[in-house]
Amino acid sequence: MKTVTIIGCGVIGAMLAYELSKTELKVTVLEANALPAMVATGSALGVLMAVSSSKAKGPLVKLRLASLKMYDCLIDELTTQTKRNILYNRNGILSFLRSPEEKNKARSLIEIRKEQGFELQWLERDVISQQYSQWLTEDGILSPCDRAVHPTQLVDALVDAATQNGVKFQWNAPVKCLEDIKSDRIVVTSGLGSNVLLAQILKNCSQAREQDLLLPVGGQALLLQVPGLNLQTIINAENEDHSDINIVPLGNDQYWLGATLEFEPVELPHEANISLLLEQAISWCPTFKQAKVLKTWAGDRPRPDGFQSPILGFVPDHPHILIATGHYRNGVMMAPVTAQITRDLLLTGTSDLPWKSFAL
Ligand SMILES: Cc1cc2nc3c(=O)[nH]c(=O)nc-3n(C[C@H](O)[C@H](O)[C@H](O)COP(=O)(O)OP(=O)(O)OC[C@H]3O[C@@H](n4cnc5c(N)ncnc54)[C@H](O)[C@@H]3O)c2cc1C
Repeated sequence: MKTVTIIGCGVIGAMLAYELSKTELKVTVLEANALPAMVATGSALGVLMAVSSSKAKGPLVKLRLASLKMYDCLIDELTTQTKRNILYNRNGILSFLRSPEEKNKARSLIEIRKEQGFELQWLERDVISQQYSQWLTEDGILSPCDRAVHPTQLVDALVDAATQNGVKFQWNAPVKCLEDIKSDRIVVTSGLGSNVLLAQILKNCSQAREQDLLLPVGGQALLLQVPGLNLQTIINAENEDHSDINIVPLGNDQYWLGATLEFEPVELPHEANISLLLEQAISWCPTFKQAKVLKTWAGDRPRPDGFQSPILGFVPDHPHILIATGHYRNGVMMAPVTAQITRDLLLTGTSDLPWKSFAL
């Protein structure tokens, strides 16, 4: 096997291209759009929430923790090679907890993460109120190892580094049919575009599947200017309805605030949902009343329908086609580990990393 074609250049395709650029393989990336990261990845906030994620154990947790561990080195490596600035927040995530259930869960999570080798600190409300005087005082947990990365800056650096290492990228190159591609291996990293590409193949498989693999789950977010907030840490805060918001500091008094979770595709931002996000932020920190909204946007997350997220492995009956998609709310988070698993599958047919093979 010598040639690999990757279809789609969101964070998953770009990360895989970079990972494969360190091997002997000849890699081509075909992207439908004129630039990388213009679909789900371009909407993401880049929060890398693995340690403080409330899920304690299980395959998804293993994947997230393994991926998080790769990030610090990856960013150093990319910055050294490309000399590009990648906004990468190493100050950790502070989660503000509202309900007794979430507080109890967080307390037991501290012990579990300790056994898994990660630090989480319980912060009493009076400790928080000293450091975060503008915020509503509640108990919280600080996760020093969690991070946030600027998704499009990351993808631009990955494309740059992979190009320097010999990967060919073709823009404005939508793939209509997988059978048209002449390559030893094909990897479908097309996010929601994977539905159309794989529909024909899955219909004709020994265990045929008629319905789409992925469903779109909408999300909306804002870019804000909030003078005087002076926040360095990423904030995750529980809303009254138990949903949560993330606030990501970008420097120069600017912050991302998001994201809604809407179980339908969202093409354009809706005024009501954007206002709700702002109200939720204000309920935690009245300084957000002074926020100037600089930008709003909406995007769709690729959520597997009836499969565990993400969908990784060989396409049934087609050993030369692999799939790496369906990362739902954690594509930026899980991109490094996904790329390494897919590299292992291409080179050896299996991987020692924690993964579960896609099966119909
Ligand atoms: C509002 C919002 C906030 C989010 N926040 C976070 C977060 O904080 N942290 C996190 O980890 N994740 C977050 N996510 C989720 C994250 O965005 C996704 O999981 C991730 O971007 C998926 O990456 P991808 O590369 O699989 O898909 P995409 O980014 O959608 O990339 C797929 C690419 O394939 C291309 N393509 C499709 N079909 C074809 C074709 N036929 N031929 C050629 N190219 C094709 C597309 O043009 C696209 O560029 C968020 C998502 C949203 C919507």
